[in-house]
Amino acid sequence: MRPQVLFPLFEPITKLAGIGPRLGELIARVAGDKIVDLLWHLPAGFVDRRASSPVADAEAGQILTLTVVVGSHEKPGRRGLPWRIRCFDDSGELTLVYFNAKADWLEKQFPIGETRLVSGQVEDFRGSKQMVHPDEIGTPDDADTIRRVEPVYPLTAGLSGRVLRKAVAAAVGRAPDLVEWTDAALLSKQDWPAWQTAIKQVHTPESATDFAHDTRHRLRLAYDELLATQVALQLLRARTRKQKGRSFDTNTELRQRAGTTLPFTLTSAQNQALREIEEDMASPARMLRLLQGDVGSGKTVVAWLAMLNAVGGGAQAALMAPTEVLARQHFQTIRGFAEETGVRAVLLTGRDKGRVREQIVSELSVGEIQIAIGTHALFSDDVVFDDLGMIVIDEQHRFGVHQRMALSNKGSAADVLVMTATPIPRTLMLAAYGDLDSSRLTEKPAGRKPVDTRALPNDKLQDVVPALERAIGQGAQVFWVCPLVEESAELDLAAATERFGWLQRRFGERVGLMHGQLAAKEKDAVMSRFAAGELDLLVSTTVIEVGVDVPNASVMVIEHAERFGLAQLHQLRGRIGRGDRASTCLLLYQGPLGDVARARIDIMRETEDGFRIAEEDLRLRGGGEILGTRQSGLPRFRVADLAHHSELLTLAHQDARLLLDKDPGLESERGQAIRTLLYLFERDEAARLLRSG
Ligand code: ADP
Ligand code: MG
Repeated sequence: MRPQVLFPLFEPITKLAGIGPRLGELIARVAGDKIVDLLWHLPAGFVDRRASSPVADAEAGQILTLTVVVGSHEKPGRRGLPWRIRCFDDSGELTLVYFNAKADWLEKQFPIGETRLVSGQVEDFRGSKQMVHPDEIGTPDDADTIRRVEPVYPLTAGLSGRVLRKAVAAAVGRAPDLVEWTDAALLSKQDWPAWQTAIKQVHTPESATDFAHDTRHRLRLAYDELLATQVALQLLRARTRKQKGRSFDTNTELRQRAGTTLPFTLTSAQNQALREIEEDMASPARMLRLLQGDVGSGKTVVAWLAMLNAVGGGAQAALMAPTEVLARQHFQTIRGFAEETGVRAVLLTGRDKGRVREQIVSELSVGEIQIAIGTHALFSDDVVFDDLGMIVIDEQHRFGVHQRMALSNKGSAADVLVMTATPIPRTLMLAAYGDLDSSRLTEKPAGRKPVDTRALPNDKLQDVVPALERAIGQGAQVFWVCPLVEESAELDLAAATERFGWLQRRFGERVGLMHGQLAAKEKDAVMSRFAAGELDLLVSTTVIEVGVDVPNASVMVIEHAERFGLAQLHQLRGRIGRGDRASTCLLLYQGPLGDVARARIDIMRETEDGFRIAEEDLRLRGGGEILGTRQSGLPRFRVADLAHHSELLTLAHQDARLLLDKDPGLESERGQAIRTLLYLFERDEAARLLRSG
């Protein structure tokens, strides 16, 4: 249960004075609906109201807090004109200007003869000084609250800075003094403030340097968040590790035979990955391993050999892909190998109905089928395996390992291998999965030629046509990727359809069009015509599945390459360069290019190494924006920023490991404080594991 000391922070924001349902909703939109969310809503800038001067010395453009005496009110002569208030001090005169303000409010705020503080930007109007709608007004008693550095928060329409500032300040006021959870040695070495102090400091910046990612209070709060995440991940991980797995013999005759009858030699990366997987499979603990590698790096083949360890031990294996097309493709890759080794492998997708399906389901239930490849149809309720020993999940770019664990309930203690075609930078890997075991396929199978990547401005489009004609004349096939138009599927389609027409006029009937709105059957039809060589050129939007394998396709044109993220460009390009033909990728861009777009295109021309590209992507965009991470189940950090705090992440990871080694149940004094930290960052699920033990 959440510790009592945190209760005030987990109340709804509407519990704060002055925040009703309407404001509550607006604040929830920018920060969240709990009071604690306001603590994590960090200022984006600040306004310094400390400066003051005699009115005569005030310069236009400065933000100043001036002390003046109210002289007279000058009411607007007609609608649309402002209300002016003449004020003065010993040195000169200042006019306050208000548009559309209520008369009684103004007269109450500025009684004639009284002294007032006004803070805002001083302007020069035809030689006299004025301030239009001062940001802050008050009496001399309010000097301390007005003359200070004011944080500026990200806002939304209808929500004023003043209201949000008050709400955050109230939330900060509720921040309790918590028992320290940071390791004492680290705390003194880094000279970090206590949590409560850090929260106060982060919301009361005093200068631009207070916003840096490396101020002590920022670092401390970022570390807290990273530590909470790492402890939570490691607790979840420890639970998985405690689950009993099975121990497979990885030396069966079947497995050996399959390895030697492959029509190619495995790359050393494939061999290494297999060794790692087989070590897990041989051990009695349950395997949960991630296999990362670009499209075409040979993951499916590794999975095939790994599955044979289960099959060799008399169990079954299943391979699940996120889409029909990809499931089919895995089946294509594996089918031939399976026939050769005498293993029965079938494809089961949502499209199999009636008799065919019944047959498969019944054979699976008695173990006559050893390997099932398919979509999530594999995991529908009526599919019962005789003895499912291993599960391979091809996530492509959808991660979410822990959620997927649920599926593994189909097989008691089944080993799980998750494949992903998105190379995940080490930093993100650690942030998202903590200690998850992972193997990387870092090289392409032998014989693949590098892709020649070039960049051309869009207005050279006409010149591309003759080059394509030549390539097609020599038997090449071409992917033509159409630009993403403002995330609108309809507009994407319109652009692709138009380009399709344009290319058809030049290349005739052997041009196909592929897009997200086609029915599954039509997609397959277009794809298989392209794969069979009946089409020379395939125009597509980016919504088509990654991983589609047409080895003869050796040219790719990407229009408006500047609109794509680095990871996405890399994924797209991965569809060519898979056969023995030399490949070319043309990145057409609309200039002028911004710095980031230019850097992306340069990196694409420089390297095909997906891991390097992923690291560069992280550097260019920052952690949260990596392709697909929004939907990916990657944690979204509130304070920490992986682009700046990756060293803290490593530190937090080690800290969490040491802590849990010594105190796996978080019983010690520090352990108790860490529990509070988990709840503070809403890792309740992990904290609850402790009780259920
Ligand atoms: P991925 O699943 O990573 O996209 P696959 O395992 O499907 O890659 O391999 C892509 C293609 O390359 C397949 O046709 C496969 O048979 C072939 N392949 C895999 N490994 C090798 C290798 N070591 N040498 C040559 N070809 C290979
Ligand atoms: Mg594959």
